[in-house]
Amino acid sequence: MTCHLRVLGCSGGIGADLRTTSLLLNDHILIDAGTGVGDLSLDELRKIDQVFLTHSHLDHICSLPLMADAVGGSRDKPLKVYGIYETIHALQEHIFNNVIWPDFTKIPDAKNPFISLHLIEVNEPLKLGKITITALPVDHSIAANAYAISSTTGTLVFSGDTGVSDAFWKAVNQQKQLKHLIIETSFLDQEEVLAVISGHLCPSLLMSELDKLDPKACHPEMQIWVCHLKPDGGDAIMQEIDHHANTLAIKPQKLTRGTILSL
Ligand SMILES: [Zn+2]
Ligand SMILES: [Zn+2]
Repeated sequence: MTCHLRVLGCSGGIGADLRTTSLLLNDHILIDAGTGVGDLSLDELRKIDQVFLTHSHLDHICSLPLMADAVGGSRDKPLKVYGIYETIHALQEHIFNNVIWPDFTKIPDAKNPFISLHLIEVNEPLKLGKITITALPVDHSIAANAYAISSTTGTLVFSGDTGVSDAFWKAVNQQKQLKHLIIETSFLDQEEVLAVISGHLCPSLLMSELDKLDPKACHPEMQIWVCHLKPDGGDAIMQEIDHHANTLAIKPQKLTRGTILSL
């Protein structure tokens, strides 16, 4: 197995056993730092060398400041945090600002800090050993991106938070051997207006978005996973998706915490 993604959290909110977005890639790369990170042991937290953020909304970053504090002092190199300009700027301005949280980009000193912040550009692949990570465009209520994760054996795309987006699907359709597509659906169909103004999807919008997927990009056994369901709509959202999905070749499944996806 060259590449495995462990789902630490994939809910659109908290409550009981729900955890917000956090995906652990090969034990040392974190995609988003939602509340799922809090279930990791200190040893597991210490092994994480890179964090790739989709955007600066709290449900995707809330564990980052706490994680930096928990293991920053016992790591021998900075935790590298990657994001597009707006995401990195928001972290500097609103989180690591010595008001909400200490500026761990300068603690204990600027040469060897607990964390370092790194800009990424959309559609520019970054190679990390045998894995390539590429930020893809999406349309959300703030600047955000999806990620494509590729190994020699296949690709996984994680949408992060997005509403209707032609740019996202254009980028997805340029992938090769897409084995897993993780796509958000936050709201019920009756909440479509809310979904649209907040840059999210509901089941009927998911169906029209999936129509944009080019089968040529897909592995023959590709799976589609639904995430970011709002806690009070969870099962009903999946029922609506099941209802709509009767005619689809690939039926979307609910992504759950603890799932491990392989490439
Ligand atoms: Zn968001
Ligand atoms: Zn979110």
